[in-house]
Amino acid sequence: MWAVRNSPSLRAVVTGGAGFLGSHLCERLLADGWRVTCVDNLVTGAARNVANLRHHKAFESIQHNVSEPLYLDDAVDAVLHFASPASPVDYADHPIATLKVGTLGTHNMLGLARAKGATFFLASTSEVYGDPQVHPQPETYWGNVNPIGPRAVYDEAKRAAEAFTMAYHRTHGMKTRIVRIFNSYGPRMRINDGRAVPNFMLQALRNQPLTVYGDGSQTRSLCYVDDLIEGIVRLLEVDYDGPVNLGTADEVSMVELATRIRDRCGSSSEIVFKPLPEDDPRQRQPDLTRAQKILGWAPHTSLDEGLTRTIAYFRDRLGTG
Ligand code: UDP
Repeated sequence: MWAVRNSPSLRAVVTGGAGFLGSHLCERLLADGWRVTCVDNLVTGAARNVANLRHHKAFESIQHNVSEPLYLDDAVDAVLHFASPASPVDYADHPIATLKVGTLGTHNMLGLARAKGATFFLASTSEVYGDPQVHPQPETYWGNVNPIGPRAVYDEAKRAAEAFTMAYHRTHGMKTRIVRIFNSYGPRMRINDGRAVPNFMLQALRNQPLTVYGDGSQTRSLCYVDDLIEGIVRLLEVDYDGPVNLGTADEVSMVELATRIRDRCGSSSEIVFKPLPEDDPRQRQPDLTRAQKILGWAPHTSLDEGLTRTIAYFRDRLGTG
């Protein structure tokens, strides 16, 4: 669809471009021949994440909160809206900003895409399924979300973002894409963002107790960032307007994840159990049938391989390498 390699002037705007996923996406789009404008207000993102791109002549970055309108000169071919706090700790710390970026921010970025005749690409989330009663979760499942719980600021904002996206698609005939991203991990996660992988790595590398919440039997399926980004660029290239799950089918309990991270770090930390946060989903695993069919995509990085690469990043950040 894009034939980008032969059209070096195509331009992508990546919101949240200095975040964990956004920075990997900027890097990949540049490698694929796009011009990239990174937009980030650096609340949870970090300039460090795109420091290696700063001297690329096809890269520019703008510090801006996309919950406020953004007007850009010149053509834009794709707007990829990845801006949002994404860790439960972060969205508890920034509840109103999280609601705003998912709702007002999505509206603003749809407006930008519409004004430019660009494709709009929404980073949605497995959180739209809430604490799922269907397992694994296909895109046709409508979810089980508590609208007034602590996670609602993220979950409901992303659900509204999907509704906004479909309304613009139906009303204005815009080209839109929706990816529902399941748990992902890798280098450039903020080391203290409070999610399970960064917490366990930080704790193991510092020989502090690993804090497993609840009895640790709750599960997640963890996808390595490079696999996820591959799925995202494939989705940008195909003509498909419905939501598409991306993640892995390898489900792991949190106590097993803690044990594996501790062992891979060569740490002597003990594992301690702490209270389970409110509305913490019991189980989560994507049904990947649609992604396989539409994108010909499947993740291929094993959990051990991905953890090893991520631990190397954490060691480097902590200076324990
Ligand atoms: N978790 C944990 N210890 C921690 C951080 C998280 O046991 O130090 C658990 C959390 O309760 C949840 C799972 O790990 O069951 C994944 O949490 P995370 O914050 O990574 O993402 P979520 O999938 O909940 O959005």
